[in-house]
Amino acid sequence: MSDLYAVIGNPVEHSKSPQIHAEFARQFNEKIEYIRVLAPRDGFGETVQALRARGALGANVTLPFKEEAYALVATLSPRAKLAGAVNTLKFDDGMLGENTDGIGLVRDIENNLGVAIADRRVLVLGAGGAARGILGALAERQPRVLALVNRDREKAQRVALAHASVVHIAVFAYPDLHTEYDLIINATASSIQRERPPVPATIFANGALAYDLMYAAEPTPFMQFAKEAGAARVADGVGMLVEQAAESFFIWRGKRPRTAPVIALLR
Ligand code: NDP
Repeated sequence: MSDLYAVIGNPVEHSKSPQIHAEFARQFNEKIEYIRVLAPRDGFGETVQALRARGALGANVTLPFKEEAYALVATLSPRAKLAGAVNTLKFDDGMLGENTDGIGLVRDIENNLGVAIADRRVLVLGAGGAARGILGALAERQPRVLALVNRDREKAQRVALAHASVVHIAVFAYPDLHTEYDLIINATASSIQRERPPVPATIFANGALAYDLMYAAEPTPFMQFAKEAGAARVADGVGMLVEQAAESFFIWRGKRPRTAPVIALLR
């Protein structure tokens, strides 16, 4: 019998995680079964228990359950604690909750795109689950400036406060953005609505990288705007998606898959 894993979400049929983990397992000649599980909006906890009863060894958690997963798990990693959200569950005698989104983003930016984060001016757009998942990992790389902007500024302030023990995050409203940044990360849900966040064209410094967590067949509205505004490079979130999956695979199976061929496959 092969080891069972799952991605739990609602909706979940779009998830590329089964394909990604099948590729990882193939690299090591291992057999795993990785399934999509649609949980009812009010039935996340029951869905997790049912998966454990089936003998699953772990699960990824996607929208809209990352906060609920955080509340469900007794043993949280420091990263998950800081994010207030869990995207990876490991089942053994108990249940471990981790958040691999931030490390996935940082590995994509530094290792795959070859862009340093240390000592750079970094601006994160958005203050939802995705933004919370990445701020801790960005802070660990010691950027010169770490700034956060959100339409609902108070929400951004709460997120900054939750990180105050590890990093100072400068909080802005969109109309107050005036200075340049080297790395601008779109962690809003704007691309899903085929919109772009209302950033001014002047925020892109010489050589800037504009990164959209969203991934799609064509460049997102934010990527198009950044390119026109003079960003030297633009990237979507496919690399992050594969890197966060690789970290989950490592947590479950103690082996680090090669990510480059899987990123190429998804493109
Ligand atoms: P949430 O619903 O938790 O948060 C949404 C955020 O987007 C809020 O800050 C909201 O601002 C902001 N927002 C929504 N629409 C707009 C708009 N038109 N202009 C400006 N801001 C807007 O979503 P998540 O944080 O969970 O997800 C955000 C994105 O990140 C999604 O596209 C998701 O697919 C992507 N993602 C990608 C991953 C990857 O591996 N590549 C991993 C995780 C997420 P306000 O509070 O003011 O309403």
